[in-house]
Formats: sequence, structure tokens, C-alpha cells
Amino acid sequence: MNTMNELRLVNADHPLHDDEEALKQQLVWVSEDVQLQHVCARALLSWIRECGAQQEVTLVSGWRSYDQQRQILRQTEAERGAEYTRQFVAAASCSEHHTGLAIDLGIRGQSQDLICPDFSGPLARKMSRCAAEYGFILRYPQHKTAVTGIAFEPWHFRYVGLPHAQIMAQHDWVLEEYAAWVRTGTPDRPLQVSVDGRRWQIYSLPHIDGSGDPDRTALDEQTDLVCQPLSQAPFAPLSHRAWVELDCANLRHNVITLRRQMRPHQKIMAVCKANAYGHGLRECAQQLLQCGVEGFAVATLEEALTLRQLDAQCEILILGYVPFWQAEEVSRHRLTLTLTDWENAARLNEAGYPIRVHVPIDTGMRRLGARAEDLDKLCRFYQFPHLQVCGTYSHLAQTDSLLPQAQQATRRQIALFFETIAQLRKRGIDPGAIHLQGSYGFLNHPQLPCDWVRFGIALFGCIDPSRTQMKLPLRPVASVHARIAAIKRVRQGEGISYNHLWHADQDTTIAILSIGYADGIPRSASRQHVEVLIRGRRCPLVGAMCMDQCFADLGDLPAEVGEECVVIGNQQKETLSALQLAEKTGTIVPDTLSALRGRLPRLLK
Ligand SMILES: *Cc1c(COP(=O)(O)O)cnc(C)c1O
Repeated sequence: MNTMNELRLVNADHPLHDDEEALKQQLVWVSEDVQLQHVCARALLSWIRECGAQQEVTLVSGWRSYDQQRQILRQTEAERGAEYTRQFVAAASCSEHHTGLAIDLGIRGQSQDLICPDFSGPLARKMSRCAAEYGFILRYPQHKTAVTGIAFEPWHFRYVGLPHAQIMAQHDWVLEEYAAWVRTGTPDRPLQVSVDGRRWQIYSLPHIDGSGDPDRTALDEQTDLVCQPLSQAPFAPLSHRAWVELDCANLRHNVITLRRQMRPHQKIMAVCKANAYGHGLRECAQQLLQCGVEGFAVATLEEALTLRQLDAQCEILILGYVPFWQAEEVSRHRLTLTLTDWENAARLNEAGYPIRVHVPIDTGMRRLGARAEDLDKLCRFYQFPHLQVCGTYSHLAQTDSLLPQAQQATRRQIALFFETIAQLRKRGIDPGAIHLQGSYGFLNHPQLPCDWVRFGIALFGCIDPSRTQMKLPLRPVASVHARIAAIKRVRQGEGISYNHLWHADQDTTIAILSIGYADGIPRSASRQHVEVLIRGRRCPLVGAMCMDQCFADLGDLPAEVGEECVVIGNQQKETLSALQLAEKTGTIVPDTLSALRGRLPRLLK
């Protein structure tokens, strides 16, 4: 069995045409029924173990002769009636979707992951079950639409993942039935299902064209079927004084939402530096891997090693400085380094370990990499015998501004990057995979011909919409909570906390919250009129913030010791965003979030 980069399973009955004979070597012949499932399962397993999820794999379930297609068509008619069948038939004589187009496309290498059979019948169900068992994403090739000429088929949804396949298998549904059902659920009123004791909420997400108006939606073949896990046990962080909640469903939603704006073959490099922007590296990376994110970028070797423990295969790019004497460790764990400067690169190479590297180009950030204009110097980074260049990238300096001069500067950087890449190629240098955009770079300059997009803050759902052209409905992942440790009546004129910086201007009630600046809440928050939510009401922080505690003015609001308050997040109808906190305390969201300390437990919702 071929377990390298591609797996191809075809139906043994299919007679190969002359021009297909060359493909024979790459095919695994299986008979349609029993063996397929067996081989499929084995193939999938070995693929997962040996190739890793970032590899290109084409798995083809069957390849039908014209006679077989007719037979399936007749069978479908007999099982489901002519009316049902006609819906999915393109030509009068025979349904296009029975022609194995998906398979042809797979053979020609136009698609990745698993191309699912898109017809009804036992074979399709077997594939779905296999996918369910091994956690595959079934991908419906979008370009099929162009080939079939069928403008709308429900099976053209871009992704159908693991839980979908499980639910379909449980109900014995084919995709058309399933899709029709899911489309009755909306983001506001999702459908809830449970499979094997796990609970999911499901809805369809209409395609948003990203051009500005978030309400302009169209329900078409790009509609996504969203499936989000619900927590099994009732969520009760009772034992904690303060904590961070991670909404995994929102993280998943963000990945899907961003992915839909990307070009078909672009990959997501999830930027998870600084403990995943303070969210929790392990917790987030696990979720992101489940969402099919292909690679990660981090700042340090330690962060990279933490990720490598979670996944043996995925791409892990270290964006920051790693001293040359750690070359052996980098090589052993198959991490990818950024060549941060010439001296260190030369010493890394001298160490003699084979190391994967990306070359940064300075196109205007003036941070890492040789200047783009300095082409001779840049080229020398590609010539170290022990450093295997797998990528080339640059970083944009002004993408979160919509001011004309900033946008112009960004366009200059973009042009310079692609010119430099072209120059490298002209000199016979392979730059490897190229990437340029971070979150704002992507949202303000989408559709660049890059191989990766390095999403950081967008994954965590904290984009400032006033700074982006493309408005996407991203959702915040983290919320910050604390308990009321004590409640105290304070009389008019009395000062509270260190140095009595605040005095009550009338009799009031103060809640002492069990969270402080050592948990990562900015110490200036209480001076900047930052509010917290208690019983769904906004209450201002007052007095100097302490290391582990702070003070909220309850006014006449009744509250009890032990009650939960929200520093970032929702409570009843009120919301406090990380963006508001960042703005009030004079900084940006990544700073606010990455300040959240390790002593706050991260709880998955
Ligand atoms: C941090 C970082 C990113 C991610 O930036 P976001 O704005 O959070 O998406 C991308 N690329 C590089 C080089 C970075 O340092």
C-alpha cells in the first residue's frame, strides 16, 4: 500500500482507459464492499500515523463505470423515488454526481484531504463512517461546480467534518438529507443533537462576501454547516477564585469563518505565541488541531516544544530568536526556525544538524531579515548546506490602519515582497512556502497568492472592526471571571485601598473581587473607570487595584459573597470586551490578553 503522500483507492471493477494506465501504479485496488471499509480504515490509520494531517492526501472511494453509474441511479430511484433523484440529476441520461467526478478531480491532484463520495448508498455511508472514526474532514471540491455546471448542489458544502459524519451515520442520512436538516438551524437558534453521549449544536452559516456589509449574506453552495461541541458536564468552576473561560465553539467558528475567506489551497498558520495570546497554549492548540489548522507559529523554543508534544507532525515555525547552541533540539523535534540574523544562521549551520528554516525578508517592518533591496545578501541565506529553506516570509507594519498613507505603505510592502520572491526565483532559488499576512493584513488585503496566512488575534475573535475593510462575524474566545471575596459598607467620605486614592462621595457598598494586577488585569484599570459585570449590571472599579484583589462600587446593587463577576465577557445582556478594556487602559488587545497570568485556570467551555 502506498502510504506516502497520496492514497488512492479505486473500485476494482473500473476499467481503466488508455490514458489512465499510467495511474495504475498509484492505485490500491479494492473490491467494493467488505474490503473497502477494511482497507479504508487501514489506509486512514496509517496515513494519520505516518504522513500527518498536513500532507496532501487524496482518498478516493470508488471509480465507476458508466454501467455502474446507471445502476446506482436506478437503485436511487427505486429507493427514494424519481422526484428525489431528479433533483440531483444534471443530465437527462445520467446524473453527473454519479460519474465519479470527485474521483477524477482527486486523481488529478486538484484537491486535498478526503474527497467524499457524494452519492447515496452503502459506499457513501461506509466512507462517512470511516471519516467519523478517524476524525477526517471530508472535503467537497468546490471547483466541481464549474465542472458539472450544476450551480447548486447541497453536497457542495466545502467541509463536512467528524461530527457531521457521525450524525449522518447515526441517522443513516445521506448528505442531502442532512444538509436540508441543518439548514433549519440558525446561529441564534442552533439544532442540538447528541451522539454517543457527546452533545453538539448545529446550524448553517450563510456565505458572507466579506466586502463590508456583515448582513449581506447569500445561501448558496458556500454555505457552511457548523457543528460545535457542547460541554458534557454542567459547567461549574465553583472551586476557583478567578479564572479564564475558553469558548471552544467560538474558536471553531472563527477558524471556519476565516477559512471561508481564504483561497482553496491556503493553509492556516495559527499564531500562538505568548501562551496563545494569554488564552492557554495547550488548550487552544488542541482545539485548533481538531479544527484542521495546518500549522503554528510561536515565539520561543519552549512554546514550540509544548506544541510538538501535542502533535508529532504539524508545521511549527518559531518566529523569534533561538540561539545556535539549541540546534540539536530544534532538529530533533523537527521544528522550523526563522533565520533571525546572519551570524546566528551561520553558527546554526556549523552545528551540522539538518534544520528546517524560513527566511524572513525585511520589506519595511525593519525588524527581522535582510532588506529586500539587498538581494545578494538575502540570497546567501538560501545557501547553507544544513539549513533547508522551506519558506520565505515578511511582516507588514501598518495593516491595522485604514488611513490612506498606511494602506499605501502596505501595498508597497506587498509589491516589494512579491517582486523579491520573483527575483529569487529568477536566480534559481526556491523560496518554499510564502506568507505575508497576519490577521489585519488578511482582513485588509485578502486574496494575496500566499501559501500560508498567519492568523493570531483574529482566531481569538478580538478584531477591531473600525480597523478592517472586511467585516467578519468573529467571536471572542476568552472571558475573564472572578468571585466576590467580601462585601463592605463604606460611608460617605471614606477612602479605600492603598493611599485612599478614591473616596466614596456617598454611602455605598463595595465588593472586594478576588482578582488583581498579578492576574493580568491592568493596574491602571481602576483609575480609568473600567467596569465589571455583577448580576448583569456594570459596576465601576474604584480605589487602587491590589496585587490579588480589587474593588467594585456596587451602589445599591445587592450581591453576595462567592458570586461571580465578569471582567471580560458577557453576563445577562451586558458585554465587556477585551477591546474596551484595552482602549480604556491605553493599549491594544493582544497586550491585554497576553497579560493574563498562568495562575488563572483555563476552563474549556
Ligand atoms: C504576532 C505575529 C503575527 C500574528 O499577528 P496578528 O495580528 O495577531 O494576527 C503574524 N506574523 C508575525 C511575524 C507575528 O509576529
